[in-house]
Amino acid sequence: MRRECFFLELPPPVEAMAAWPHVVIVGGGFAGVKAALALAGEPVRVTLIDKRNFSLFQPLLYQVASGLVSESDVATPLRHLLERATNVQVLLGEVTDLDPQGREVVFNDKCYRYDHLILAAGSGSSYFGHEEWRPQAPPMKILEHADEIRRRLLSAFEEAEQTPDQERRRFLQTVVVIGGGPSGCELAGSLSELSQHSIRRFFRQVDPAHSRIVLVDPGDRVLRAMDPSLSAAAEGYLRSRGVELLLGGRVLAIEPGKVSISVKGPEGSEPQQHVIEAATVCWTAGVRASHLGKLLAERSGCTVDRGGRVVVEPDFSIPGHPEIRVVGDLCSYSHTADGKPLPGMAGPAVQMGGWVARDILAKVQGWEHGAFRWLDLGSMAVIGPLFAVADLRGLKVAGKLGWLLWGVAHLGFMPAMENRFTLLIKWLWSIGMGERSSLLITGRPNQHMDVEVGLESFEALSLAPREPQDSSPAA
Ligand SMILES: Cc1cc2nc3c(=O)[nH]c(=O)nc-3n(C[C@H](O)[C@H](O)[C@H](O)COP(=O)(O)OP(=O)(O)OC[C@H]3O[C@@H](n4cnc5c(N)ncnc54)[C@H](O)[C@@H]3O)c2cc1C
Repeated sequence: MRRECFFLELPPPVEAMAAWPHVVIVGGGFAGVKAALALAGEPVRVTLIDKRNFSLFQPLLYQVASGLVSESDVATPLRHLLERATNVQVLLGEVTDLDPQGREVVFNDKCYRYDHLILAAGSGSSYFGHEEWRPQAPPMKILEHADEIRRRLLSAFEEAEQTPDQERRRFLQTVVVIGGGPSGCELAGSLSELSQHSIRRFFRQVDPAHSRIVLVDPGDRVLRAMDPSLSAAAEGYLRSRGVELLLGGRVLAIEPGKVSISVKGPEGSEPQQHVIEAATVCWTAGVRASHLGKLLAERSGCTVDRGGRVVVEPDFSIPGHPEIRVVGDLCSYSHTADGKPLPGMAGPAVQMGGWVARDILAKVQGWEHGAFRWLDLGSMAVIGPLFAVADLRGLKVAGKLGWLLWGVAHLGFMPAMENRFTLLIKWLWSIGMGERSSLLITGRPNQHMDVEVGLESFEALSLAPREPQDSSPAA
């Protein structure tokens, strides 16, 4: 392993800064950015490492997937976010190894020493042991996933516009969303809106009546983390918009263009088997912590839970390493009143990132810092234009008021002011005018991965030799 010494190159006083404790933050998501901002202007030098050069607002990914907003509306360059934090340097690269004993992280084939490490590398998607389903049913975790879902969907509509075969059109206009949590419900609601209104307005041959959105979940209700009354409100709204709910449904297999599902029958009866032929299949069902959790466990002997999350101490450190903190989706924090781990959500990630940064400062500067206390702000899901459900510390709201609260909360959490304005304008425009501004087909056609829809067959169609047209007048 090549070893290099890293010094932050900054305007004076470089000497003073070189003597400051070095805090390395891995991951510029909700937790990492909050930690970096909390350390801005303090007597520590901070290096924020991320494999992407932007911070992604994952809760709005479904809006990118459904063409409501574009990529740059939900992602902000890290350099922009940390522009004014002169003691923070952003470095692009993927951390591939950790050396807790030597206090080093490895990225871009270099080792960097730290005095304090904050691991905030988040989570990815899990297919519960069925990785072979991934190419058929993209998850929704990063921007490219949302792009891919949108590309598959719109390409299928484009092909449907050109095919005279009714059966094929039905296939092309069918979408299966797997997972009835907030992301699945939000995506299904938004796609139903898109496949009804946008098709009616922008396509000539495609019949919106042939569009089919199926939401599959193994539970007996959607949004199981919320109060049953809110699940019922969300289900009622989705059904009223034509979304089919397959509750009690377990996915058995996903093949190109086909999903096999076993659906629980009434008490005592056999499960029913369903095979749905669909051009677009999306996966929002499983989450797995970043592989850095497992790597840290191998290198330090700390424990990870079944989801790969690092089990942390009350101050988010790991046993024997008070200088290593793990926060956000990557950690399992159970030092709560009911002993249940904090949920993998943006709110806890932000609070953890801020607290850990202040705790490091307290140690560096020698002041007392109180214990971490999580403030539960509740949870929300937006199911359609002007319709959201919100569970806010016992206050349960559904409908327009829910949407208003959802909008305020999401704009408040959005880190960049410019994105707040753009999003607000796009949301209001889409509600007022019924238009979506980002219905673009981008990406690589070969990402279709065996599903013969859209651009691939579109290209095949235009390249295939054509039968000579008979232009003679009909007899
Ligand atoms: C589709 C979707 C919808 C969601 N909706 C909601 C919602 O409505 N409300 C809510 O509260 N929460 C929601 N969440 C959950 C929320 O987004 C996460 O809990 C939150 O992003 C976790 O923050 P984090 O900082 O731990 O990780 P992340 O925000 O995921 O950030 C991790 C960062 O680490 C970087 N990284 C990863 N590995 C490495 C590496 N090896 N080297 C360098 N960098 C690395 C990544 O590039 C990324 O920037 C949603 C999540 C998804 C996917």
